[in-house]
Amino acid sequence: MLSADARREELKAVYRQASVCTRCPQLAASRHTVVFGSGHADADLMFVGEAPGANEDKQGVPFVGQAGKLLDQLLGEIGLTREDVFVVNVLKCRPPGNRDPLPQEIDNCQDYLFRQLELIEPKVVCTLGNFATKLLRGDPATGITKLHGREEERVIGPRAVRLYPIYHPAAALYTRSLLDTLRADFARLPELLALDPPPQPEPPAEPEPVVPEPAQVEQIEAIRVVEHEAPETQLGLF
Ligand code: URA
Repeated sequence: MLSADARREELKAVYRQASVCTRCPQLAASRHTVVFGSGHADADLMFVGEAPGANEDKQGVPFVGQAGKLLDQLLGEIGLTREDVFVVNVLKCRPPGNRDPLPQEIDNCQDYLFRQLELIEPKVVCTLGNFATKLLRGDPATGITKLHGREEERVIGPRAVRLYPIYHPAAALYTRSLLDTLRADFARLPELLALDPPPQPEPPAEPEPVVPEPAQVEQIEAIRVVEHEAPETQLGLF
């Protein structure tokens, strides 16, 4: 078990790695910045959106546009602020023209999200819309219309969480009935946060330590140099 401080340090290391990621060549070429996530690094509640838009890409912060304003408002209605929660996206880079994330991009980016979940250790993970819900439930066939407002216990990577799908705030911006539904689903979050966390699965057995060959040591040093060159600009966000 790592302390909250140790987990935050690890999270910073994941940020440094993500901030120079080139796994999706098109996104790496067109993005202005990698939007890693923001909020409380030890939050009980984590929101997972889809992908940064133009404003997020410029500022390096998730949910700062119109959908973000609605998210802030709904949080306020349940007595929370962005500093109380952690907000991330399935994709850390903006898809050009705000097109939908491609399956390959989701695949390339998912390790970062799973590491964030593992290190932040939220009790409740609230997926916003179809992309996050389908990815974290591992079920591409069942969409948000059917699942919104229904919590379930899920093991994601090494952690058991309460997964709570709700509509994406962007979908609710222009449709009154969806906004009412989103607000009603949001109102149940305090009740879910008050529940005991789901029982955690047994941690996997510790692997035998591997002693690297001298050639591998050189490679590891080279990787460390690359990590060191990553920008530090978003470290103040969590
Ligand atoms: N929509 C998202 O899914 N994420 C953002 O960060 C902004 C808008």
